Amino acid sequence: MLQEYRADLHVHTVLSPCGSLDMSPARIISEAKQKHIDIMAITDHNSTRQCRVVMEMGRKAGIAVWGGAELNTREEVHCLAYFDEFEPLDELQKWLDRWLVKIKNNPDYFGDQVWVDEEENILGEEPWLLIAALDRSLDQCYEEVHRLGGVFVPAHIDRPGNSLSSQLGFVPPDIAADALEISPNVTLEMIEKYGWAKIKPLITGSDAHHPERLGMNMTRLRMQDAGIEEFKKALGGVDGREVVPEILKL
Ligand SMILES: [Zn+2]
Ligand SMILES: [Zn+2]
Repeated sequence: MLQEYRADLHVHTVLSPCGSLDMSPARIISEAKQKHIDIMAITDHNSTRQCRVVMEMGRKAGIAVWGGAELNTREEVHCLAYFDEFEPLDELQKWLDRWLVKIKNNPDYFGDQVWVDEEENILGEEPWLLIAALDRSLDQCYEEVHRLGGVFVPAHIDRPGNSLSSQLGFVPPDIAADALEISPNVTLEMIEKYGWAKIKPLITGSDAHHPERLGMNMTRLRMQDAGIEEFKKALGGVDGREVVPEILKL
């Protein structure tokens, strides 16, 4: 039986240097509950370390929380990676620790990079600047995410910074990806002009760095359950499953 899920597939936490200190797991879960979000993906810059707590709290609150990250490739293109189990997330974290270019974070300038528990006690701090790039190309990032069984999606492809369009000049028709994320600012004209929907399925997310922003841009998913394997099938349009970005301007 297919069901409809409302998903916010791009959410930052207190761990991202640019993420508000209000974006604690407890606040994110209560905000998501209020906004009737069924599925939420935690995608901090180049780190998965806040995922587990939010995933566990989501389970208790009846919200499916996927973990992952917003990878910054060597080309400085942001790409989302999604998983729904702890093991591949731990593997991805080791890979991120290995390939993140090590620039010391200056919390006064870039912001704090801490991760916290259910009660907002600090569990740890990332010493290296998370918005730096990984020493891995787009293709290498895609390969690693797929090797671990995840879903790989270049982020905000229409944006004038850190996107395929800004860094490569266009979205390559043969791009190694499972979907493309469009930002809230995209217009139907842009999508038609560049033919993005013909390249890959399109998704969207809020890219929330503050609680108020959470759930502002959602993707509707028609699938059998709220897991990543079903998401893969929905991206492939298998047996009536579908993925529809809810963008006001469309
Ligand atoms: Zn981004
Ligand atoms: Zn983001």
